[in-house]
Amino acid sequence: MRTRPIFGGVFGNGRYCLATMACIARGLHAVRYMVIEPRAGSVLSVAEEKTEALQSARRLLRATEALTRIEERQAKPQQEQLWPEDDLPPAAPGAKPAPRRRREIFERSNGRCFYCGTVLQLDGKWHIEHQIPRALDGDDSGINLVAACTSCNLAKSDRTALEFVATLQ
Ligand SMILES: [Zn+2]
Repeated sequence: MRTRPIFGGVFGNGRYCLATMACIARGLHAVRYMVIEPRAGSVLSVAEEKTEALQSARRLLRATEALTRIEERQAKPQQEQLWPEDDLPPAAPGAKPAPRRRREIFERSNGRCFYCGTVLQLDGKWHIEHQIPRALDGDDSGINLVAACTSCNLAKSDRTALEFVATLQ
């Protein structure tokens, strides 16, 4: 995996890097692009095109900024109060719509597994995945949460997103 820092705009001053990774599944010279935050070990976006990777990382950062501003305005909310529906099982067909946060994470991930790109169903079986696991002090901020299919969720375990993505070829 090769990386180079990104400067300017929403990316700030080199805090985030554009990484390229060989993608053997798509042929010898194919690469996949990622925007990562190396210090935290988090992955902002994964795409087959560089511009696409940058664009969705930008979108994510802007959305996270907006979310942070909203959270700051609320007086020290408890996580349980904010998102009490987190651990509910997926809704059955015809049941009430998916909880708001689940839907937000689903939309931010473009309805796909963040890691392998599998198309997910909003009210189907998928996981809210901590890019940086709670075990490693990962928090519940929007940027740390992505949608993941069951098999990626199980396979990732307590690794950081960056460690896990590096094993996906
Ligand atoms: Zn997956």
